[in-house]
Amino acid sequence: MAIKYDYEAIVIGSGFGGSINTCRLAKKWPGKVMLLERGKRYPMGSFPRKPHDMANNFWNIVREGRNRPKNIGSTDSHGMFDIRLFDHIDALVCAGLGGGSLIYANVFLQPPDAVFDENWPETCKKEVLQPYYQAAKSVLGARPIPQNDDPRRQIIRTELFNDFAKHDGHDSELVDINVFFGNDFEKPLDIGVQEKNRYGAIQTSCVYCAECDVGCNTHSKNTVDLNYLFVAENEHKAQIQTEVLAEKIVPLNEQGAEDPAATGDYGYKVFWLDLNNAKTECSAITQRVVVSAGTLGSNELLMRCRDIYKTLPDINDNLGKHFSGNGDFLSFVIEGEKPADPNYGPVITQKTDYNLFKNFDKERAFVLEDASYPNFAAWYVEGIKPGLSHFNAFVRTAKLFTARFLQGITTGPIGYAFNELLKGDASFNSVVLLCMGLDKSNGTIKLGDKGFINIDWPYKDSMSLYQAILDVGKRFKEWTGGKVFIPLPNWLWPMKSNITVHSLGGCRLADSPENGVTSANVETFGQVFGYTGLYVADGALLPTAVGANPVATISALSERVAEGITGISPDTGGKLS
Ligand SMILES: Cc1cc2nc3c(=O)[nH]c(=O)nc-3n(C[C@H](O)[C@H](O)[C@H](O)COP(=O)(O)OP(=O)(O)OC[C@H]3O[C@@H](n4cnc5c(N)ncnc54)[C@H](O)[C@@H]3O)c2cc1C
Ligand code: SF4
Repeated sequence: MAIKYDYEAIVIGSGFGGSINTCRLAKKWPGKVMLLERGKRYPMGSFPRKPHDMANNFWNIVREGRNRPKNIGSTDSHGMFDIRLFDHIDALVCAGLGGGSLIYANVFLQPPDAVFDENWPETCKKEVLQPYYQAAKSVLGARPIPQNDDPRRQIIRTELFNDFAKHDGHDSELVDINVFFGNDFEKPLDIGVQEKNRYGAIQTSCVYCAECDVGCNTHSKNTVDLNYLFVAENEHKAQIQTEVLAEKIVPLNEQGAEDPAATGDYGYKVFWLDLNNAKTECSAITQRVVVSAGTLGSNELLMRCRDIYKTLPDINDNLGKHFSGNGDFLSFVIEGEKPADPNYGPVITQKTDYNLFKNFDKERAFVLEDASYPNFAAWYVEGIKPGLSHFNAFVRTAKLFTARFLQGITTGPIGYAFNELLKGDASFNSVVLLCMGLDKSNGTIKLGDKGFINIDWPYKDSMSLYQAILDVGKRFKEWTGGKVFIPLPNWLWPMKSNITVHSLGGCRLADSPENGVTSANVETFGQVFGYTGLYVADGALLPTAVGANPVATISALSERVAEGITGISPDTGGKLS
């Protein structure tokens, strides 16, 4: 019996991996690709700013009973910030059409060659991935922040980090960021002026408002809904469904019936809940499935299918292994004597290299990046729930701020509210230090008692990295004459957890099922061992931490997955048609 498929492919999740695959697969099969995304669409100007709206801008489904910060756990909410509390590591991910691209800090950075030496199969070495890095970089419009005589383009914070790097004997350089400054890289469009990007979506030349991590209301960030997904939907007629939660994947047998013993040769039935429609269960059948729910989402969906629904029983035991937080480490230097002006300009502008790109030392390889703090602080402070510590004054104020903010009592926007936290010049002279590097990538994702993931993070194994980062933070404080250096975490109660925005791994690419979960062979790149037509394309694929911000590598690998499925190589000049 010929099975009548609804779709050639269903893609689950619309972050970098999902949008790349939706676009590339929809080009091959116009009108026959469906994307399922649990979060909402965010048209220009729709990102919440009012304290009341921000207070509801979290992701939570009460009946799941996940471990969440207190203020979030008791109501159903389909906002952007999905904060997860695990053992010794907490994580932030985003829900929304565009996934992490909606709130990320825009950095597109290729790691150095040495990162790929251990545990990366031959087909995934940096040199081999070059055309895929190049294709993604071109679509995402990565470039450094423009430098010219316009005083509005001067960012004091960038200069501060540059001066510190010189003082500390290291190299600082501008990083490529996926931000829109007009289509002509040589001649930036005036600040605030709008034009269509090369794919037809209207964007605004960046207005330097420093709100990148809470969603860019002027659509100046090159989020994937403005390029890959814009073309997928408008040109290649991909069907994009938002506020739908993928729940289960079941293989079909020759007769087209659901059959957990089948291995995908006859396709799959995918089940999802329509969150807008009283959580009605829906389903469709498809030749292939691309799981791109992000590292946490993809590992969880596959584990639940294997261990709870028992519909994908042959996924191997490597699932969930080699989790990494990409060495993320956040800290603050409060009230230095040098101006930092951390409320201006795109969130990250430069990187200072510590043994990652130069003098590679895998025990202590990281980059130090500048960051604007109003955005970060709100959710980080909420995420780690600081209580008593020897920085009582700071923490008390932070808690007060958070409580007011989340209850919608604060009268102004987030930037104003945080300025209240660090009044007057203190805010102007305080600095956020954002570090990431090569942790040991030896965390384990497992299903907990309630059937949802938990992560075991053996943070002590990565102490050489964290100690090197702490040392730099202390030197930064001394150099600026700062009053306090606050590392999050300090591994003491209550700041006992690392916090990551870069969850990676668990569906490791490998040459064989003994070493990983997904195939690194060219023809079947990203396919789950044991199943035909079931792919992973997102951060879960990465065999190890990359030290650099991971989106460039996630995108390159996802382009590679799409090429394996479609047989079409991506255009390195960024054409999507
Ligand atoms: C504040 C912040 C700043 C960051 N800055 C940078 C940076 O500057 N540079 C960089 O390289 N990286 C940065 N990152 C990390 C980057 O955003 C992630 O690595 C990246 O988004 C991961 O891409 P992905 O495709 O793996 O998944 P994601 O982007 O996480 O996308 C997964 C999508 O799947 C959806 N989903 C999950 N489960 C389901 C389900 N069951 N059904 C339907 N949909 C589902 C989610 O809602 C989400 O939209 C930052 C992250 C944060 C949070
Ligand atoms: S600084 Fe960030 S949020 Fe503000 S306009 Fe530029 S890209 Fe958008």
